[in-house]
Amino acid sequence: MEGRVIKTTGSWYEVQSPEGLIKARLRGKFKQDELKLTNPIAVGDYVLLQMENEQDTAVIQEILPRENYIIRKSTRKQHFSHILASNVDQAYLVVTVRNPRTSLGFIDRFLVSTESFRIPASIIINKSDEIIKEKDKEYAALIREIYEPLGYPVVLLSALKDADLAAALSASLKGKTTLMTGHSGVGKSTLLNRLVPSAMQSTRPVSKSTAKGTHTTTFAEMFAFGKDGFIVDTPGIKEFGILDIGDEELSHYFVDLRKYLGQCKYNNCQHVNEPGCKVLEMLEQGYIHPYRYESYLKILYEEDDHR
Ligand code: GDP
Ligand code: ZN
Repeated sequence: MEGRVIKTTGSWYEVQSPEGLIKARLRGKFKQDELKLTNPIAVGDYVLLQMENEQDTAVIQEILPRENYIIRKSTRKQHFSHILASNVDQAYLVVTVRNPRTSLGFIDRFLVSTESFRIPASIIINKSDEIIKEKDKEYAALIREIYEPLGYPVVLLSALKDADLAAALSASLKGKTTLMTGHSGVGKSTLLNRLVPSAMQSTRPVSKSTAKGTHTTTFAEMFAFGKDGFIVDTPGIKEFGILDIGDEELSHYFVDLRKYLGQCKYNNCQHVNEPGCKVLEMLEQGYIHPYRYESYLKILYEEDDHR
């Protein structure tokens, strides 16, 4: 029987199957793949199950090939990475302008990561009700100005105050598996609870310490949205790991730089100071946003440790 992992709790997995929700586990040794993952099975995985005799539990026999997945790599413990979620149709990054302010660099890292996994991404600016001061309005406008022309939808809303929240999002959520992520404190849980009221008991209120970004090891969890949609909730993350992306590859995941890659004089151009660099030319002419280019350089020059 085929099912989909919607929650992982240590050694048990909750699997949505034609027979309903089933508790399943792995038996014995399970083939680990080459990624050195701490979790062999991730939320979103399609799996083959075998029911255990005289019990209402099942054993996971096989993971069906993943269409895609988002990996989180620990920056401190290099050797560990885990799959946040798999088989994702789109990703929403929830950001805020204040309390806390999400940096453009963080947004760009997220987008590099979704581009590398070929997952369409949108940016949700939450807490619109708190955007009153001029400098906050400017920041929200800047986010829109930078990312919309690149093809990333930007939606401004207030998970807390908007009366008709579903209207803004439900068309794009319908029938899809949507990963929702963002820093702690941006209102992900609030938004999720509004969209999927059944998620309520699962999400815990944010504590002072999590608001400061204390590392939590909670895994992602998936909630049914409408008939065959899912929203994947991920724990608040400080930073996305950008795995296995070489220096020469990085610009491929900046959609605005990617356009010009074939036009640089040198094949191995890294778009820093090379003569005949089309990217630098387009930057100078204003076709590439300086903040985006700044993010590109920051990631390029990051120690490999922090990728
Ligand atoms: P999470 O860590 O991303 O899950 O964030 P929470 O959903 O726990 O929200 C963090 C804090 O922001 C809580 O105090 C929420 O009440 C508040 N919050 C969430 N959404 C909004 C919003 O749209 N406007 C305002 N003013 N506060 C919000
Ligand atoms: Zn170049």
